[in-house]
Amino acid sequence: MLTGKHLIAGEWVAGDATFLSSPATGEALAYAVGTPAHVDRAVQAAEAAFETYSQTTREQRAVFLEKIADEIEARGAEVTAIGTSETGLLAARLEGERGRTTGQLRLFASHIRKGDYLDRRHDAALPDRKPLPRPELRLMQLPVGPVAVFGASNFPLAFSTAGGDTASALAAGCPVVVKGHSAHPGTGEIISQAVLAAIEATGMHKGVFSLIQGGRRDVGESLVQHPLIRAVGFTGSLIGGRALFDLCARRPDPIPFFGELGSVNPNFLLPAALAARGDQIAAQWVASLTMGAGQFCTNPGLMIALDGPATDAFERAASAALSAVAEQTMLTDGIAAAYRDGQARIAGAEGVEALVETTSEGRIARPNLYKVTSDAFRKSHGLDEEVFGPLGLVVRAKNEEDMLDLARGVEGQLTCTLHLDAGDTALAQRLMPILERKAGRILANGFATGVEVADSMVHGGPYPASTNFGATSVGTMSIRRWLRPVCFQNIPEALLPPDLR
Ligand code: NAP
Repeated sequence: MLTGKHLIAGEWVAGDATFLSSPATGEALAYAVGTPAHVDRAVQAAEAAFETYSQTTREQRAVFLEKIADEIEARGAEVTAIGTSETGLLAARLEGERGRTTGQLRLFASHIRKGDYLDRRHDAALPDRKPLPRPELRLMQLPVGPVAVFGASNFPLAFSTAGGDTASALAAGCPVVVKGHSAHPGTGEIISQAVLAAIEATGMHKGVFSLIQGGRRDVGESLVQHPLIRAVGFTGSLIGGRALFDLCARRPDPIPFFGELGSVNPNFLLPAALAARGDQIAAQWVASLTMGAGQFCTNPGLMIALDGPATDAFERAASAALSAVAEQTMLTDGIAAAYRDGQARIAGAEGVEALVETTSEGRIARPNLYKVTSDAFRKSHGLDEEVFGPLGLVVRAKNEEDMLDLARGVEGQLTCTLHLDAGDTALAQRLMPILERKAGRILANGFATGVEVADSMVHGGPYPASTNFGATSVGTMSIRRWLRPVCFQNIPEALLPPDLR
């Protein structure tokens, strides 16, 4: 049952105004508009909760996370029903994403049980050291305080209300205030009901989690500027992320803003692989490029290949595969409009030629494929920027040196991919040191859509892929965003945090 209200520290709260959801199918529903006053109430409660929540044992928090996962599963059918209506995503996709979301919660439960993330260190006292004695030093990671979370429209579960940011922050010991995404307010509410049920079942402080629905931009703005918020996790667009990042930096006490933003994810198609299996790579590229209407931050938008007949054949194969892809529904009207604008930007750039060109209207997107020479690519502004949707651009490098130069020119990326065979090793060895500076994840012979939730995953990268190259938003290392190291010098055992005794 949906209430259309905010969840503030265990209470369902309505407001003076409502906004209507904009579902892909089914009827629009009214949701309470969030205000800075709602934000303040939720953050004050989160600060009050921090006092006890930060002192819970790792085992207590692990049980809480597992309970959230159970409660989400118990509402599985309801989540899928509202999620498919709001986003237009297929039921199978949302069920898979639900499994990923509950898997993430359970992964963080087992991660904190192990305790390695505390990074506990000890330098024993050296009282006889000359010329000066060394004090006893101990270090561990401690939770930072209340955290704000902004989810993305394209992952209404795994990167949203109780997605990776919330799971990792709660695991660390930080209360969370979620700014609900206006593209899926109902999905956000059902997930919040699951979190509340887990809070009640485990006896956690109710201020440990709140959801403030959107509807107005000042909800997010006031949240990141609230004096009691200590860090922000954001997944979304470069433009939105940058606006909120700037607000964090301008605070009297600047706080870290962990923004996971868009990416064009360049692929480098090396000549031996192209010669050996160009058609196969073309078909796989098209499948990855158009999956979920191309609405993935890891969507492989750019294919960089050497000019010549093998690339002509690759383009023909990709064009044939792309022409067979059906139209798809996009997540929101705004994203669909941005896709059409992005297509116009690429199609209208000097030197760009269409391989497959379609028109899209309303919330429907049809795939497009373009090509451009490396010289035109460098000259035309904006060809290296993300088009969020099923659009690909083949960039033709004149020779290997030109391909290396294109690699040097790309901005920070979530991922870069090499398609290579044994005969490509020498060129790949020259590309690797360049790509290591560009991306959070480098792949060989695959596609970056599909991000494994694991210990070794990095989902981040140099700006503009993210606002903080030292962080990841996926995988167990993402917990570090909500921790800070504290050194305890000569502190008596009885005063140390229990995990350090
Ligand atoms: P979005 O439009 O930036 O929205 C994200 C959230 O930020 C929403 O809650 C939105 O509020 C809020 N917001 C945006 N601009 C704001 C501003 N100026 N002031 C205050 N709040 C603001 O992103 P999206 O459309 O949901 O997601 C699509 C984008 O996310 C794509 O570019 C995609 O590549 C990227 N993405 C990145 C990752 C990653 O891990 N790096 C993962 C998935 C998606 P409203 O609800 O009011 O709009």
